[in-house]
Amino acid sequence: MSDEPELRRDPVTGRWAVVAPARAARPHELGDARPRCGPAAALACPFCEGAEHDTPHEVYALRAAGSAPNGPGWRLRVVPNKFPALQTLAKPQAAYGCAEVLIDCPEHVENPADLSDAHQRDVLCAYRARLAAHAADPRLAHVAVFKNVGAEAGASIAHTHSQLIALPVVPGLLQAELSGAEAHFARAGHCVFCELVERERTDGTRVVAETAYFVAVAAYAPRFAYEVWLLPKEHAPCYEAIADGAALELAGLMRRVLRALDAVAGAPAYNWFLHTSPLRAGDLPHYHWHIELMPRTARPAGLEWGFGAHIVTVAPERAASALRAALPAQ
Ligand SMILES: [Zn+2]
Ligand SMILES: [Zn+2]
Ligand SMILES: [Zn+2]
Repeated sequence: MSDEPELRRDPVTGRWAVVAPARAARPHELGDARPRCGPAAALACPFCEGAEHDTPHEVYALRAAGSAPNGPGWRLRVVPNKFPALQTLAKPQAAYGCAEVLIDCPEHVENPADLSDAHQRDVLCAYRARLAAHAADPRLAHVAVFKNVGAEAGASIAHTHSQLIALPVVPGLLQAELSGAEAHFARAGHCVFCELVERERTDGTRVVAETAYFVAVAAYAPRFAYEVWLLPKEHAPCYEAIADGAALELAGLMRRVLRALDAVAGAPAYNWFLHTSPLRAGDLPHYHWHIELMPRTARPAGLEWGFGAHIVTVAPERAASALRAALPAQ
């Protein structure tokens, strides 16, 4: 058995798995589950400014004019994952791909909601830049962009960061969304997400917040209590097309929703996922990018892992009204 990551497909369900034994060696600063807002772990943090030697060389950065790559003077850095789940130099059976870490900021900040909206906009625009960069590699099919916040959500380092995993295949949940959306379009003649946005805005009970371009809604059939989706109100298949102004607005909306979530659900660990069209898919009429914010308000158990059905103890309508009540005005 080699230690090289390998991409395997379950013959029954078609589900993809990345088998990456070398990842077991990665640091586990957050090994034990604990409250998300525990004592700061800034000591020897490999993501803080000044510790650039602890990460591989940067592939993208926002830096002060005149500052040298891989030294201090940055506002945001993207580096290859030191413990990649995939590798760029593919052997035939190996998992070709590219795993990157986006370090949100040089200061030791653990809560993404503590970033200024302008800084969070830069993070959101960096997602856009990396998606565009990976789209140029025809071997890659999709980039999974996500954030793990807190040990319960899988974060191994507390310093706020995002992960970008470029894959040679479209992963299962996204493929399921694409197929479902395509089938809906064939039946109804319009985008299922546009329909969802319209229905939720008309109904209002699950709307958490709304801005000029975006709406945040409590998921109708959530996996976890307080699960919130953020969607562009107008049809938009590719996240890469987001404008700077819309990214700034999204940053502010995310901050307010995260603050409300912390207030009503006790600062839970959470993931957010960016669901967008596969690379080079063009302007799909049936798919519509969105961000799913999934708080870890419960531990998945047998029914969830074994059958994919989730038990949620807070109705989304109640979750939305609690989040609305806790939402900062600005
Ligand atoms: Zn740090
Ligand atoms: Zn749409
Ligand atoms: Zn989705």
